[in-house]
Amino acid sequence: MRNFFEKNAYRCPSRIACVCVLLLLSVIPLSAQKILVIHSYNTSFPWTTAFEESLRELAEAPGSGLELYIENLDVTRFGTVPERTALAGFILEKYKNVSLDAVIGNSDHACVFIDEYLRFPLSIPRAYYTTSYENPKPWIFSISAKYDRVIRDTWAFVGEVFPRMDGVIVISGDPYSTRTVYSLVSELAGDAGIPVRLLADFTFDELKAAVSEAPATTAIFFTPVLRDKTGAQSTPKRLLSELAEISPAPIFTFWETMTGSGTVGGYVISARTAAKEMVHAIRDYLNTGRFGSEYTISKCVVDWTAMERHGLSTGLIPESATIINRPEPFYVRYARTVMRVANFVFIAFIAALLVAVVLIVRSYKRLSAVNRQLLVARREAEELSLKDSLTGLLNRRAFLPLVEYELQRRTRFGSVAALMVADIDHFKRVNDTCGHDVGDVVLKEVGKAMQDSIRGTDTLARWGGEEFIVLLPDTDEQSGFVLAEKIRRCVMDLRFDSCPPITISIGVAQHGSDEDFLEWFKEADGALYRAKETGRNRTVVSSGLRPDLPTDSREELLMLQIPWRDEYRVGVEAYDEQHRALFSLANGLVNAIVNGRPTDEILPLLRSLQEGSTRHFSDEEGYLRSRKSSYIERHMKEHAFLLQKLESHIEAFERGKTPTYTVVSFICTDLIVRHILGEDKTSFREIA
Ligand code: GH3
Ligand code: MG
Ligand code: MG
Repeated sequence: MRNFFEKNAYRCPSRIACVCVLLLLSVIPLSAQKILVIHSYNTSFPWTTAFEESLRELAEAPGSGLELYIENLDVTRFGTVPERTALAGFILEKYKNVSLDAVIGNSDHACVFIDEYLRFPLSIPRAYYTTSYENPKPWIFSISAKYDRVIRDTWAFVGEVFPRMDGVIVISGDPYSTRTVYSLVSELAGDAGIPVRLLADFTFDELKAAVSEAPATTAIFFTPVLRDKTGAQSTPKRLLSELAEISPAPIFTFWETMTGSGTVGGYVISARTAAKEMVHAIRDYLNTGRFGSEYTISKCVVDWTAMERHGLSTGLIPESATIINRPEPFYVRYARTVMRVANFVFIAFIAALLVAVVLIVRSYKRLSAVNRQLLVARREAEELSLKDSLTGLLNRRAFLPLVEYELQRRTRFGSVAALMVADIDHFKRVNDTCGHDVGDVVLKEVGKAMQDSIRGTDTLARWGGEEFIVLLPDTDEQSGFVLAEKIRRCVMDLRFDSCPPITISIGVAQHGSDEDFLEWFKEADGALYRAKETGRNRTVVSSGLRPDLPTDSREELLMLQIPWRDEYRVGVEAYDEQHRALFSLANGLVNAIVNGRPTDEILPLLRSLQEGSTRHFSDEEGYLRSRKSSYIERHMKEHAFLLQKLESHIEAFERGKTPTYTVVSFICTDLIVRHILGEDKTSFREIA
């Protein structure tokens, strides 16, 4: 197998090339047939025009293999012998390098000119269209008008479609046609006993008058008239149109070029057919060396409208006839209208479809945009509704389902859980003294500090206002307490630019079995309440039992409280509030000292007390002075003494002195008992 391919491989390309060349040769003729055409008349003659058009159609058809060279003898200009000789010389010179295959002569003058002036070699075959010129040679094909045939055929056709005919008029035109037509028609009419009249030697007006007076039962035969007896010129077709318009009788003719002018037509000599048949004959000769015998140049051409106008029987038109001006049958017209309407409907439908598609796409785009906006808005709304906008922590709404989930988990797995509720101490004061904006900052910072202190599994939320809540899964009361204390210290360590440190109170409750959330929350909230009640800045567990502290913890061991009582009130709300705040600060400080908290924890508390006292003293002095208190001097001295004492304690601490009960005694005895409960009450009572 392989051997075979190796042996034959080299042959393949050459074979393919051969096949390609053969294919090309079969498609492209090697060289076109070059034919010189000589017309007798110029193209203003309808015959010449139709003849030439027909030849060009042939030559221009794809793959025709025909090349035309067209010259015009134009006998009206080249009439004399010297003129013709000169023209012949010009043509011979022009085509001396063109190897012509054949020559066509279109009508007698052209054929005579070819034979007598051009004298091409005899090897070039010729095809002549002639009327009377004859030059029988084996290499010349002559096709003549064959008037006999068309006149006889037309006469028979007229007899068929126009049986009422009782007279004939022959209009005399060029002598040869007139002679032929008149003699033959006279013979045929004579046989039928129909009188024939020749209209000759007329002016155009006389001709028109005669035609317009012709009886409707007359058949008029027209031969090509070029001029009248005065020498006035017309073209046969134009004259025919004018006559057909005024003639009561049908006009028949024998030339295709004259049809379509209002004449009925008949069997006619066709310039188009003549041209094609001549090329046909030449090709026969070039292929076989001789001309064939069957070439015909006549056919039946009738004008439907003209026949109807003169009442001729259109039903008897031969099937092979070419019918011009035939009205379209009703159904064709109907179909066309239907098609037009259908087209319109279709286009309208497509347009509507396009518009609909555009509208759909646009509304879809708009809808998607709206959807996107809605989605974004929904997400934002969802986020907003689940998150507290100030602290960024979860809000109560987000927190509740999580607790529910934790409770279910607990029921299922029997795990423990704790709830922590934290509330900033005296937060109202922060707002009042430092401004709401600062209050907001404090809230954010507390939230952050709490978030940083809890575990990943714990859930922190802002419960509302300055209250926070933490869900502690898998956490018992003791662990909850430890965490709460860690949070509390973190918050206490926070420092703010524009307000003193703050503290928080926390309540912790372990979840008791069968408790729902509300009950659980009440437990934690109750513990928080107790933390507030017992002096704030502390954690209280709901069981009331103090959890065991880890050994390394330095939690308070003592809970010293100087509780605020209503009887301590001086009677002016603002100062009672300030006194209560000083109580709270004093309690925080005393407890820190007695529980041995480190200096860095005590110092800020001491400074808070100093700041609070300074502000309060100056307020109070202003008030007492305005109320003209007689104690003002004594009172101011006492304030100054207390502030100086406070300052000296702070300085001692800053120097590293460990806190002693001197400070506790100063706070409890000097500041609270002697001053607030003693001096203040006396002064206010005086001005009350
Ligand atoms: P207590 O120690 O008893 O908790 O005293 P308190 O002053 O903290 O408690 P109170 O309930 O009297 O005051 C809470 C204040 O918190 C009142 C309210 O104006 C303020 N507050 C609540 N929500 C916000 C907030 O979002 N921003 C600010 N700046 N203040 C808030
Ligand atoms: Mg509160
Ligand atoms: Mg509070």
